[in-house]
Amino acid sequence: MATKGSQKFAILLVKFSDTAYTEPNPVAFYDDLLIRRGTGGVNDYFLAASLGEINLDGSQVFGWITIDTTRDDFIAAHPGRWDKIKGAIDAFSNVDTSPFTGVIAIFNVGLGDGGMQGRGVLCAPGDVNVTFLGHEIGHVLGLEHSFDQSARQKANWSAPGEYYDPYDLMSAMSVLSDAGHRFSPRGPLINTANLHRMGWMPADRVWNPPLKNSSDTYDIDLVALSSPNVPGFLAAELGGVIVEFRVPEGFDNGLPRPAVLIHEPADPNSTIIASDLASNNNEWQPGQTYDATLKLLGQTGGVRIKVISFDLRRKVARLSMTVMAVKPQLYNDKIERMPIPDPRLSSFVEAFISPIWQALASKADEIRFDEKQRQSIEIQQNTIAQQKTAIEVQAGQIRLYRNVLVGCAIVVSAAVWFLSRHL
Ligand SMILES: [Zn+2]
Repeated sequence: MATKGSQKFAILLVKFSDTAYTEPNPVAFYDDLLIRRGTGGVNDYFLAASLGEINLDGSQVFGWITIDTTRDDFIAAHPGRWDKIKGAIDAFSNVDTSPFTGVIAIFNVGLGDGGMQGRGVLCAPGDVNVTFLGHEIGHVLGLEHSFDQSARQKANWSAPGEYYDPYDLMSAMSVLSDAGHRFSPRGPLINTANLHRMGWMPADRVWNPPLKNSSDTYDIDLVALSSPNVPGFLAAELGGVIVEFRVPEGFDNGLPRPAVLIHEPADPNSTIIASDLASNNNEWQPGQTYDATLKLLGQTGGVRIKVISFDLRRKVARLSMTVMAVKPQLYNDKIERMPIPDPRLSSFVEAFISPIWQALASKADEIRFDEKQRQSIEIQQNTIAQQKTAIEVQAGQIRLYRNVLVGCAIVVSAAVWFLSRHL
């Protein structure tokens, strides 16, 4: 089920008995930060980032209240992140938080931790900005971290590439956010791969190639994600990637310059595709082409996305999309219909495949030689075993003969003795 409409959060403001004189901001501040529209706060952010699909209307601020415990005693009694959020929920015994989508626990002094756990967000006094709260609320709503293609690790506990899509809120640790606003840092927006997954990208604003598997080139305009009021496509989906246009304005004001971005969507994590992998540059500028066609083996499918130009007055990027059809597989008359090999294919085979094939063939010979040796050893072992059996049989015969001879000798001796006595 897609998450849509009003997402109501209970915002709980809690003070400790030993620091009750410290109240970082008045209650109205949190109302402006998280709930009221038109303040440039978190509610405005989600309205813009979700393309109007969700908002935080109906959220409520509770507090400040002072609990009868010191900060240190509270931490000792609430070691985990969820324990601390639960501690805030328990402090408001008169508030039923169960009808809310989630809880945001804000303490008047830092607890040495912050972030999302369960359906809650733990917040230190300094975490009152759109980027942090947006990211953590995003987690509560089902969003997950975004990646780039690199092997870089943002922290020793994070995965390679995780938190490295600077154009997506769900990489917040290292994102392009704004400064100078009352609730800064704010932004960036949520990438189209994540919007698509959350069901926040209207299908009629996504361009798809009109034909399923026929080669053609299409010129299309993509509207900046921050200007959804401009009619037109906000994303293009083809060849397993999703393309968007981003402009430094609104909640994307922290972006250094306009850029086309390409993501490979995956559930649940999107990956941003670099225009230059070596420098981890993810911007696609006019003149650059994303090429995912299988060139070496001839014209056998794929897409090519060329950035033509940006029109910042109209808030659009012009792109040229080339779709190369995949040649159908034939199952009958294979020999008759076998295509004449592409000369480029033969030279490719000469240059790359032949040495590999030869190396493999000599390896196969080695393996065959080893196999022959193994068989010869086995034959020899069998021969030895047979010889051993023959020797054993002979030994048995020799024993028998010896016993017969001994028996005969005894009989003969006895006969000689008898005859010498009686003759
Ligand atoms: Zn996170």
